[in-house]
Amino acid sequence: MKSTDRSYAVSKSDEQWRAELSPAEYQVLRKAGTERPFVGEYTDTTTEGVYACRACGAELFTSDTKFESHCGWPSFYSPLAGDSVEYIEDRSMGMKRVEVRCANCGSHLGHVFEGEGYDNPTDQRYCINSISMTLRPAQR
Ligand SMILES: [Zn+2]
Repeated sequence: MKSTDRSYAVSKSDEQWRAELSPAEYQVLRKAGTERPFVGEYTDTTTEGVYACRACGAELFTSDTKFESHCGWPSFYSPLAGDSVEYIEDRSMGMKRVEVRCANCGSHLGHVFEGEGYDNPTDQRYCINSISMTLRPAQR
């Protein structure tokens, strides 16, 4: 676990984020909100491509590791690279969870769970808000 008061490659004031993001994006990315299940635009997306941070554009996940978890949010079993995301222990909601943030700008992406028995190579589920990401479809 890394400290939360580190500096990021992309660092903006709260006012800047508020101005650049939509209210819904701001609430999730900067206030660690969670979008409602089954409504996110990428929940069932199977398009090949790379998912980038909607706040800063850093590439975070690829469609290669996206799997159908039926949990209501886009789910991946691995980030694009080990250092593309960071992990913060989250004890809100009365349970211990691991928050996933963009390592480039510190924006909230979702949570990661493991040992749930999903049939994937890592037995992990990166449960990520659609609104935290922008899909860049692969070039054909
Ligand atoms: Zn970012």
